[in-house]
Amino acid sequence: MGAVELHARASRDYETRLAETQKLLIQAASEFAPLKQASSLGAEDVVITHLINSLELDIPVFVLETGALHQETLDLLARTHATSRAPVEVYRPVQEHVVQFVAREGKDAMYRSIDLRKACCGIRKLEPLERALAGQKAWITGLRREQSAARAEVPLIDTGDVVKNGRTKINPLSNWTWGDVWHYIQQNQVDYNPLHDQFFPSIGCAPCTRAISLGEDFRAGRWWWESGETTKECGLHVKPEASESLPVAASAQGHFAEAK
Ligand code: SF4
Repeated sequence: MGAVELHARASRDYETRLAETQKLLIQAASEFAPLKQASSLGAEDVVITHLINSLELDIPVFVLETGALHQETLDLLARTHATSRAPVEVYRPVQEHVVQFVAREGKDAMYRSIDLRKACCGIRKLEPLERALAGQKAWITGLRREQSAARAEVPLIDTGDVVKNGRTKINPLSNWTWGDVWHYIQQNQVDYNPLHDQFFPSIGCAPCTRAISLGEDFRAGRWWWESGETTKECGLHVKPEASESLPVAASAQGHFAEAK
């Protein structure tokens, strides 16, 4: 059974959530420009890219091609490149930094310590992310509250980083369920990563992602050898201490009013 058959199950207020998400994206395109969508090509992100394309929004999509992605993810990236109306930008790490790190620490360094794992994420993800977001007023992510305890309070619009780097983070699917995501994929025949059919709910770099078993946490397959919820992030979405977040319950229109 594939991911669509397994998971597609719209929640009771799915249509309302979808309408709010569309409204949020339309307003974001005008009120937060320039902005981009950060896509890992996971299920949530392909939904957002599909929405951006179907609404014909002027929002580029970028992918961090870390040099360690699964072939299935690279194949989906190529297909997205070929079919997306919105421009698809690819950011890669500085090759020299990767070569030096691997020569010094070995290609499996991430398994030896959290510090080395974070150093690898810093080179392959965080530095390219900063380049991707340079000059942007906002970015769009596929974060959902349901994904983990660390993400349980993800707001639709997160102004926590505005003081630090001037950027707002927009999480249009923050209150969607996993069933909503797959219902959208099913309804709209959205192309997705076939790894989702092999029990990979969350997909990152190949060395750091495994399939999960029945009953395991959504992100259990990410950095599975590490313990502790707080370490299960690569740094892309780690909140600064004095982060100021907006509540998720208000309407999208209300969020815009509050976020200004
Ligand atoms: S997820 Fe793993 S391979 Fe990818 S950048 Fe982080 S440590 Fe390196």
